[in-house]
Amino acid sequence: MAGRVRYLGGFRWEGIEAEPYKPEGTHFRDVARQVLFGAEAGGVSELRYFEVAAGGYTTLERHRHVHQVMVVRGRGRALTGDGVAPVAPFDLVRVPPLTWHQFRADEIPLGFLCRVDRERDRPERPDAEALAELRRDPAVADFIRV
Ligand code: MN
Repeated sequence: MAGRVRYLGGFRWEGIEAEPYKPEGTHFRDVARQVLFGAEAGGVSELRYFEVAAGGYTTLERHRHVHQVMVVRGRGRALTGDGVAPVAPFDLVRVPPLTWHQFRADEIPLGFLCRVDRERDRPERPDAEALAELRRDPAVADFIRV
């Protein structure tokens, strides 16, 4: 599929389905996803737009594939290998291989673009031991939601 996809405003693009916010996940809250460049775009990458509603959070996970993230909307905080950092539009967030990560929105929605390899390994969620290790850092303990 070649050509332009028109931006509609409001962080929506023509013809791209937005998965609705899922409020009742066991390990995430209020996260919606749009695949901006998927398999139909060719290449080895996918680019997704994620939006976390106010107070929501993504799954705490890790995997061998990396994430390359640019925040484009709102305000929030991100856990990566370097601990918890505030994020705002046009901050970049690098998630290296096998690094625990989670994004949380503050009082307004947090939107970010995320590039991943199209072929990628399945995310892993922390077991009790990994959680205990993460919680040794008080800032991380306070931040994470599982
Ligand atoms: Mn991930």
